[in-house]
Amino acid sequence: MAPSANCPTCRAALQLTNHDTFDSWVCPNGHGLAATLSELYERAQEDEIHAVWALAKASWVDHEPTEGKPCPMCQRLMVSISVGTDADEVDEGQPGDGPDTGEVPVDVCVVDQVIWFDVAELELLPADLPDPQPTAEQEAALSAIRQQFGSDYEDADESPAGFTDLLYNRVVHSPKAASAVNPRARADA
Ligand SMILES: [Zn+2]
Ligand SMILES: [Zn+2]
Repeated sequence: MAPSANCPTCRAALQLTNHDTFDSWVCPNGHGLAATLSELYERAQEDEIHAVWALAKASWVDHEPTEGKPCPMCQRLMVSISVGTDADEVDEGQPGDGPDTGEVPVDVCVVDQVIWFDVAELELLPADLPDPQPTAEQEAALSAIRQQFGSDYEDADESPAGFTDLLYNRVVHSPKAASAVNPRARADA
């Protein structure tokens, strides 16, 4: 990754942020975060990462984008793609691949292998605050997230501005789980 990076939206210098083994570059003004493809394996499921990269490359080869957000690193316009998400780590269409349960829109710089996660989609998620005691349904969603991402999800409360949670939610893309962990409640940190 380049020594410096700028937010595609506000041009502010992105701040390199480490959460456990996951490094990402976060906009100080809350527009989102950038992560390299290789770093993403620390946090996301392999089949979705494969799909993101395959789609981005195919789209890039087809025609370099003429509109979109500038790459935080090289300022080339990024490819905007959207991939389906599911609960398993089996590649799309392979035996054992479950049905897609959501969709994640991302912007990708194929040259730098950088993926930008825009925070705007977060606004589309239910804004309702969960009850102090989570419902059984919310507990089940949370426990599913913990299983997928390991116990270090427990430490996510300490992540700056909840951006790591945002990444989880963008990848898992479960509105129920998202409202249960309620990243927006921590977005003012
Ligand atoms: Zn910004
Ligand atoms: Zn780039």
